[in-house]
Amino acid sequence: MTSASADFASLALPPHVLANLTQLGYLSMTPIQAASLPPALLGKDIIAQAKTGSGKTAAFALALLANLNVRHFAVQAMVLCPTRELADQVTTEIRRLARAEENIKVVTLCGGVALRGQIASLEHGAHIVVGTPGRIMDHLDRGNLDLAALNTLVLDEADRMLDMGFFDDIAKVARQCPPTRQTLLFSATYPEGIAKLSQQFMQNPQQITVQAQHEEGKIRQRWYEVKHNERLHAVSMLLDHFRPPSTLAFCNTKQQCRDLVAVLQAQGFSAMALFGELEQRERDQVLVQFANRSCSVLVATDVAARGLDIAQLEAVINVDVTPDPEVHIHRIGRTGRGDAEGLVLNLASMDEMGYVGKIEQLQGRESEWHPLSELTPGTGGPLQPPMATLQIVGGRKEKIRAGDVLGALTGDCGYTREQVGKINVNEFSTYVAVARGIAAEAVRKLGNGKVKGRSVKVRLLD
Ligand code: ADP
Ligand code: MG
Repeated sequence: MTSASADFASLALPPHVLANLTQLGYLSMTPIQAASLPPALLGKDIIAQAKTGSGKTAAFALALLANLNVRHFAVQAMVLCPTRELADQVTTEIRRLARAEENIKVVTLCGGVALRGQIASLEHGAHIVVGTPGRIMDHLDRGNLDLAALNTLVLDEADRMLDMGFFDDIAKVARQCPPTRQTLLFSATYPEGIAKLSQQFMQNPQQITVQAQHEEGKIRQRWYEVKHNERLHAVSMLLDHFRPPSTLAFCNTKQQCRDLVAVLQAQGFSAMALFGELEQRERDQVLVQFANRSCSVLVATDVAARGLDIAQLEAVINVDVTPDPEVHIHRIGRTGRGDAEGLVLNLASMDEMGYVGKIEQLQGRESEWHPLSELTPGTGGPLQPPMATLQIVGGRKEKIRAGDVLGALTGDCGYTREQVGKINVNEFSTYVAVARGIAAEAVRKLGNGKVKGRSVKVRLLD
């Protein structure tokens, strides 16, 4: 345990950077930031391990920005991420943190997007590159990317990159970076491959782990003993009883995910599965619908859910007990964010009691058991998500902005601001959440009306 100050002002950061942090509402450092920023700002290599949502992005972003010379037009920092959506999240966070300084150029390099545009962005000059290992290697092979001036290399979500088989790609990229650079490795867990990476590509790394414990009382945990053949049905009993608007359900295998989604959908729940092998576009659609509250249950394996930052999540259901107690801590930390209270519901069969014991040991407290028979279906019919998602054909490419869509719905269509939820503008399509009760009508009104002066194609996603 460190006794480091949690005040950003205790760091050697310029006043305009500190002022920007205050503006962003970053009033004090999170524990992983307080532990990793002092050595990172001294130029040390670090391996930092902390759970999802603990603020790891800002920890490395502030360090790489401190190493940056804005007047030098060359790539000075590179962040490797496992997926495009995480690379986009990291780019957004770096831009927010960099806005105290004029003209810092951040370029995202991920697969699934034409190379040409990325090459043009690189030619315009980039200070920071964020991307997936495969696409970055591609640019290196083609001679589009010069790393001679690189001073900071970041491996974000290193455990997940290893899970996805990126070890060789990471190694190839790292070998092309100047040996004098600083390397920062961030991870939620610490699998074996990480030691191998750090031995090969890091110098005297300082290892920092922030204990994965949650505030007592913020997360309410209940356990239910089930027989194998009643496990999936027990999930729908829990949903009917507790009626959480958004639930993340963890299974140990993809097959269990598929089976559970089939059972829930057959019973009329709005449930979707998140798999590693989904196409990027399908994955984006699933995540948009879950995050905008038009899907009640997202069913996922630990690998598929890693790194997801979902703000409002009322419940986590552990459909299977995980053999790794640290994974259990990561799972339950998805709920009870900020001031909200979180609900965790665990199903366990007799042969999983050994795993339950390991979790109790790590958490230092006994499990609270309840019988399934105390679950009663709530009133008001089957559980429905509060929102529904409309997909509009046309996105950034057509210069559609969230304001245009909101304007059309609250103007011509006559809806109130409260009936419209999250609006996600992607490259070629736009997703807008609306209150479930007006969804069908909104599709018609929007389809007959205009967005930004043009008629648009609209459909309801289910
Ligand atoms: P991780 O990478 O550890 O999963 P993120 O970097 O995505 O976590 O951060 C999670 C959330 O916390 C983000 O929305 C981020 O803006 C916010 N955050 C990060 N640092 C702070 C801070 N010091 N104070 C307040 N919010 C913060
Ligand atoms: Mg992260």
